[in-house]
Amino acid sequence: MIDLRSDTVTKPCQGMKKAMYDAEVGDDCYGDDPTINELEHEVAQLLGKEKAVFMTSATQSNLSAVLSHCGRGEEIIVGFPYHIAQDEAAGASVLGGVAMTTLEVNDDGSVPEGSIKKAVKPEDLHCPISKLFCMENTCSGKAIDLRKLQTNRSEAKELDLKVHLDGARFFNAVEDLKCNPKDLAGCADSVSICFSKGLGAPAGSILCFPKDMEQKVRRQRKILGGALRQAGVLGAACRYALENNIERLKEDHERAQYLAKALRPFHKNGNGTELQSQTNMVFFEPIENNNKDLVSFLKERKIIISKPEPKTRLVMHLDISDEFLNTFIKAIEEFYST
Ligand SMILES: *Cc1c(COP(=O)(O)O)cnc(C)c1O
Repeated sequence: MIDLRSDTVTKPCQGMKKAMYDAEVGDDCYGDDPTINELEHEVAQLLGKEKAVFMTSATQSNLSAVLSHCGRGEEIIVGFPYHIAQDEAAGASVLGGVAMTTLEVNDDGSVPEGSIKKAVKPEDLHCPISKLFCMENTCSGKAIDLRKLQTNRSEAKELDLKVHLDGARFFNAVEDLKCNPKDLAGCADSVSICFSKGLGAPAGSILCFPKDMEQKVRRQRKILGGALRQAGVLGAACRYALENNIERLKEDHERAQYLAKALRPFHKNGNGTELQSQTNMVFFEPIENNNKDLVSFLKERKIIISKPEPKTRLVMHLDISDEFLNTFIKAIEEFYST
């Protein structure tokens, strides 16, 4: 199967499975899992943060961060299309009594200058208490420029807000921006990273933050059911991913560029812009073809894509080789030539 729906569909390779098999483990709730301890230390160092805590998913990392920064009746300010606002079942509100105010974003996914200031609430008993600004990078595959994030950060800091970065695809952003991971992580107080997207681990995420947050973060993770015991089995997969799968992200970006170019003749040029890739993603809007169903045509050829509505997000990852990509491009060409 050639599965282009997401970079979450990757399966652990032999090397990763071997690392999991061989993992040294202990009870992480006692702080006894050496693999997790090393992973947390490595990632904190890499991002230039004081502490890191392993989480089961990036959703759990984001929620633990929000609940550590904010309490009931307080508020986060977050970009409207961001995962925390749209794709986490409003966990911060459901479980934490935290209000969410969403902001329109620019075409590049960044929050416009001045809009945090407009959204922040006055000290008034009619209003929630503004506590946290949440950014996201990459956002829909777009790597947001560091200067934009720094501008947002300064604005948030002037307003006495904490800043959280949802960096589920943090290393895709680092690769695209050609920056040091510390520079991107430095835009926020806390940063979450996902290991089960382009990095190819079966599960796992990590939250990095200053050390005075550690007790709160560990408590929130416990409350959310994320305090695991012999977690090193997963930690080993994440360490393997850090060592082997960061550098290769640029191959995914190159393949996405190649794919965008190949699909241009079949892309509906809605606003006259040519189809471009966004890190490892291509948002393809197929031109019509007599109501034939592209999804089932591809499925018969063992290719899976999400239903175009009207765009479909095609995502490059570890399990998409050049050969697979060319098979997909040929299938599209065939679809439109019959
Ligand atoms: C996927 C994703 C998450 C959540 O990751 P899970 O590990 O699936 O919970 C959070 N934020 C962004 C931007 C994502 O793309």
